Amino acid sequence: MSPIRKPELELEGHRLRPESLMMSHGYDPRLSEGAIKCPIFQTSTFVFESAEAGKAFFEIAYGLRERGPGEEYGLIYSRLNNPDLEVLEDRLAVWDGAEACAVFASGMAAITTALLAFVRPGDVVLHSEPLYGGSDHFLRYYLPRMGVEAIGFPAGVPFAMVADHLERQIAGRPVACALLETPANPTNGLVDIEAVAAFTHEYARADRSPVVMVDNTFLGPLWQQPLRHGADLVLYSATKFIGGHSDVIAGAALGSTQALAPVLALRTFLGTMATPWTGWLLLRSLETLKMRMTAQMKNARYVADFLLEHPKVRTVHYLGLLPEDHPMQPVYRRQCLSPGSLISFEVEHGEAGAFRFLNALKLAKLAVSLGGTESLAEHPASMTHADVAPDAQARMGITPGMIRMSVGVEHYEDLVADVRQALEPV
Ligand SMILES: *Cc1c(COP(=O)(O)O)cnc(C)c1O
Repeated sequence: MSPIRKPELELEGHRLRPESLMMSHGYDPRLSEGAIKCPIFQTSTFVFESAEAGKAFFEIAYGLRERGPGEEYGLIYSRLNNPDLEVLEDRLAVWDGAEACAVFASGMAAITTALLAFVRPGDVVLHSEPLYGGSDHFLRYYLPRMGVEAIGFPAGVPFAMVADHLERQIAGRPVACALLETPANPTNGLVDIEAVAAFTHEYARADRSPVVMVDNTFLGPLWQQPLRHGADLVLYSATKFIGGHSDVIAGAALGSTQALAPVLALRTFLGTMATPWTGWLLLRSLETLKMRMTAQMKNARYVADFLLEHPKVRTVHYLGLLPEDHPMQPVYRRQCLSPGSLISFEVEHGEAGAFRFLNALKLAKLAVSLGGTESLAEHPASMTHADVAPDAQARMGITPGMIRMSVGVEHYEDLVADVRQALEPV
């Protein structure tokens, strides 16, 4: 029998919050020798109780027939399913209000598997700009080899300003999907999910409907839930906030059972699923997700306020500082539950100034990645976005003096002291 049990989201009519469910949801200790924690099911394959049971499992897994009432997916082979991944998928789905989830070996595995599940030669893919470097590279260099063109539009401006231009560029071709990243990395520019979803879904054809995907790595799953704003799929680099300790690479895709089905099917054939050990690590991380993200969010406010007042800092891009009269303010209010903990800011003296700051940091570490318990800082123009041509960087607002900082769970006074002393040599 599978150690998974049906979700229990309610307690006598009282709806349990996600943070209360992260320790137990989807796991039945009675099926694992009473172990309070889900064991690591470090196994490639699963023994069937009978030939009939094995046949029934395959019928469901390969979609040869519908699942009967109460019939579960049987455990077959760890490329298809594994208890650590299934429990993790149930728990991740809770935060985003998703029906289904699939976990992956990395964020890029989730993103590329999702894109490949929907594109066909001759299609176009719409996307916000800037995107994560890996996603951007895949869209610009890999998809064209399959006859798929990626068309970008800028984050940070109302979608109505770019819709007409986008429509002309699409020029009647089939739209496979839209890939959005909001807030954008590293500029924190917002994309209006509702507006892009309405626009993209207009391109539905008799046999296919374009899929709106949101890479929710920066604010999710706590501070933004794109499925509630018209997205069809949510994608994550679980390496970041979900993992949260900078010690694991993983990804996830979530949505309705129907929207996720092609992605789940392709994961089986590409073999881009996560390992049981990764699943177990992420189950552990999820228990403290809310505490970590809340502490990080509070710390970021102190750091951003300090930066704003500093004479060597030119501009601070942080959602908590979005001006009241900013054209994206209504989108922020509708879509985001908190400003999160990523700050980018520009110091004086371009790259030289930025490097002096980065080299002087003592508590925060100079590294790419984000969302971990420790604070990290990096230089987007020469590191995470080095692949973006200088003129495109300028267009996207990635300047030579820009620093991106992911604020961790340290004491905020220690972080402010570190930033203050690192700004001295700038
Ligand atoms: C890190 C990141 C990715 C890629 O995730 P990996 O787990 O490194 O493969 C994708 N999107 C965003 C926004 C990221 O920050």
